[in-house]
Amino acid sequence: MDIEQFRREGYKAIDAICDYYAGLEQRPVVAQVEPGYLAKLVPDQAPLKGEPFNAIAADFQRLILPGITSWQHPSFFAYFPSNATFEGMLADLYASSVTNPGFNWACSPACTELESVVMDWAAKLLGLGEAFWVQGGLGGGVIQTSASDSALVAIVAARSAYLRAHPDVSPSDLVIYGTTQTHSLGAKAALILGLNFRALDVHPTFQYGLRGSTLQKAILEDKDTGKHPFVLVATLGTTSTGAIDRMPEIGPIVQEAGLWMHVDAAWAGVALSCPEFRDRSFLKYINEFADSFCTNFHKWGLTNFDLSAMWVRDRTQLTDALDVTPAFLRTKQSDAGMVIDYRNWQLSLGRKFRSIKLWFVLRSYGIEGLQTHIRKSIALATLFADFVGDSSLFELCTPQSFALAVFRLYPKGIASMLKQDELNSLNRALFQKIAARSDITLTQTDLLGTFCLRFAVGAQRTEERHIRKAWEIISAAGVETWAEWQATQSVSVENGKI
Ligand SMILES: *Cc1c(COP(=O)(O)O)cnc(C)c1O
Repeated sequence: MDIEQFRREGYKAIDAICDYYAGLEQRPVVAQVEPGYLAKLVPDQAPLKGEPFNAIAADFQRLILPGITSWQHPSFFAYFPSNATFEGMLADLYASSVTNPGFNWACSPACTELESVVMDWAAKLLGLGEAFWVQGGLGGGVIQTSASDSALVAIVAARSAYLRAHPDVSPSDLVIYGTTQTHSLGAKAALILGLNFRALDVHPTFQYGLRGSTLQKAILEDKDTGKHPFVLVATLGTTSTGAIDRMPEIGPIVQEAGLWMHVDAAWAGVALSCPEFRDRSFLKYINEFADSFCTNFHKWGLTNFDLSAMWVRDRTQLTDALDVTPAFLRTKQSDAGMVIDYRNWQLSLGRKFRSIKLWFVLRSYGIEGLQTHIRKSIALATLFADFVGDSSLFELCTPQSFALAVFRLYPKGIASMLKQDELNSLNRALFQKIAARSDITLTQTDLLGTFCLRFAVGAQRTEERHIRKAWEIISAAGVETWAEWQATQSVSVENGKI
């Protein structure tokens, strides 16, 4: 492809993307294809001779789009949002046009320098204290691929720091702490690093947030048996219900016991951009006690995947753990300590130029634009939670957390007479009914044995009418499921009695 061809095909590609977005609402939310659909439609090896580009681009429309679930669809309420903005797409295009592996400053100075600047912008946007800014001199931010990578990097740094301070400790005695609600990234890091992961108990009474007393007890127990807890993965906004660990209680304990605290705020962290959500998020205590913090701008934060923002209080903890600089990677700038070499802040050597996406998004939307998006998502989730709360057939399983409502079918007055597994099978049937639809999508969760449905708001194009429509669909499915369930029971339900 030469420059003029690229110009033509580039314009056409942008047109095709615009058409996709213009028609997004009319498309199915969920891909309507069967497993293995694609292999049947494409040759089983690459073509020997190059093909004309228009045929290749046409196949994106014909073969790929049908297999795409539209996470940007206004009726997408599953998992957590995965926003994409036009600013982010254009940034990706520019980044791709100057592709380079970015592992150190010299690779392309702008890649490193923009990342430091934009991560300081983002830290200030979220209210993270100066300790986490590159400008502050000791801490700093780095863009990772995912929250899982961020946690893994934090745990590697924590392990390294702990073993340096306690050289006699055997790595097999090290323990990573999380809770039963911690994202699987905690257990996965343990698996990768050959360490133990202990999931601490949390309780519905405290909205599934980790309490200080539970942590304290676990530390004493483990130390008694010769174990060495060295890091706690605390969560601001769990995947299942948006639970928040009690930072004011656990912060001082973690500090006293010499544990590293990594705060996983993959989804909810961007809500800190709105000052009114900072107290409930315990920002003050995060600033006081967290050693590292992560939030994904690629979820709710209007920035296309991937952009996992991670900050550390002491950046030498990362470089002490991850710097293996062979002679051929040394530069006079980094030897002189004048520049950051981000390869020493992450697992791999090469890295994408991602800061440009966040830079474009933050400049184009402004802080206010991002705040408007966050507030709107939360208001829409509140509308949904109110529908659930007012219904005699449903209940919220936990209080709404930010833009997430967790709920289930729970015919009031009767449900209390049903057993847990009966309620679970009722709700599984409801979920199956909704999952079979193509015009809306949600996901389920198992809340310590209780089957619930999750309604996560946050796609940029979701408006009030989409919430109303979703509630119509869900409540009608609930009525139907309940009627069907009653019909299959040998006992009948009358006047609220079985
Ligand atoms: C989404 C999510 C993750 C996983 O994020 P990745 O970037 O895909 O690794 C981890 N923790 C929480 C709380 C999340 O919501």
